[in-house]
Amino acid sequence: MKPYKEIQLRPGKESSLQRFHPWVFSGAIARKQEDPAEGETVRVLAAGGAFLGVGHFQTGSIAVRIMSFLDEPVDAAFYERSLAEAYKMRLALNLARPDNTIFRLVHGEGDYLPGLIVDIYGDTAVIQAHSVGIHKDMELITDALKRILSPGSVKHIFYKPEGTLPYNAGIFPENSYLSGGSDANEIAVENGLSFRIDWLKGQKTGFFVDQRENRALLEQYARNRHVLNMFCYTGGFSVYALRGGAASVESVDSSAKAVSITGQNVALNFGDDSRHSSCAEDAFKFLKKLPCGEKDLIILDPPAFAKHRGAVNNALQGYKKLNHSALEKIAPGGLIFTFSCSQAISAEQFRLAVFSAAAISGRKVRILHQLTQPADHPINIYHPEGEYLKGLALQVE
Ligand code: SAH
Repeated sequence: MKPYKEIQLRPGKESSLQRFHPWVFSGAIARKQEDPAEGETVRVLAAGGAFLGVGHFQTGSIAVRIMSFLDEPVDAAFYERSLAEAYKMRLALNLARPDNTIFRLVHGEGDYLPGLIVDIYGDTAVIQAHSVGIHKDMELITDALKRILSPGSVKHIFYKPEGTLPYNAGIFPENSYLSGGSDANEIAVENGLSFRIDWLKGQKTGFFVDQRENRALLEQYARNRHVLNMFCYTGGFSVYALRGGAASVESVDSSAKAVSITGQNVALNFGDDSRHSSCAEDAFKFLKKLPCGEKDLIILDPPAFAKHRGAVNNALQGYKKLNHSALEKIAPGGLIFTFSCSQAISAEQFRLAVFSAAAISGRKVRILHQLTQPADHPINIYHPEGEYLKGLALQVE
């Protein structure tokens, strides 16, 4: 195999890599040996020539994503070792059980594999590539995946790169099965509850695996409550609330397709359950019309309001407005589970937005729980950008 091309950094730009932060920004680069192709694996050197890491090159502000801080090839054996580590961790977390067949196997930088997402839904793995290097290595990755998972446990591999690769890379792969597919079973189980996962057409890999523990917590509070699940997507929180003994659950999402799958997921677990109703509508409009005091448990789990740093201020206003509407309408003694999945917004900023909403409402509010992403979405401590999900469980007097 040809040696990897080298990229040398400007003086002083090596320190973040020496602390295992996995990104090299384009401004840090002094010199490239030839021009690496999009996604090509390169060796990164300090200005003085010391080896720093090997990673995937890509045109853009993040120029290299470090795959290893050792001077080693990123090859079949590398992916097999890395995926085996990731799987071992999920087994240690006891996430692969007969009553829990949904978990995230690989969470990008959090699993030292920048750009790679793998979610497991029963015997189907759904893969996303967020870098060209990962896309180009897909065959190595799927081969490794088949080898490390216990035989027969994953029969179908669905690759979902549409919309996740940068436009300027000029690569537009289509979503497709890389293995199996014809008889894939779309029903998978989370904490004993069944969900239909629409990986073909649904958002992200088809399900928001990251809310598992927060849904389980909500279940504990749902008894006899009138629950409003805003931004319900496929109804994760609704199904847990129903199992938790909610008096009623109303699910709202602007997507009619999502609302329809929510209905199917309720039926899958509880048949025709008259406690559940749903509505395809904009959340802000819905909350405006909602009579005061009708609901005493409200979930607010909107899409990321800030998709990049430039959008932070508007996003904070959005969170403030949304939380204020819920705080105005919730019954005394009610609970609000409120979330932000914007990576660009810190837990502190989010809390401040909710604080402002509370202050305007004039109501007494206590934080019962501070919520985050679960352990199968780990955060590399040197890569704080990986912390994206934050939430608060509030009690409102
Ligand atoms: N809570 C969900 C995930 C929510 S994802 C779960 O646990 O699975 C965010 C959802 O918000 C998406 O389904 C999207 O369709 C919906 N959405 C986006 N903008 C909206 C709006 N203005 N009003 C209502 N729903 C909206």
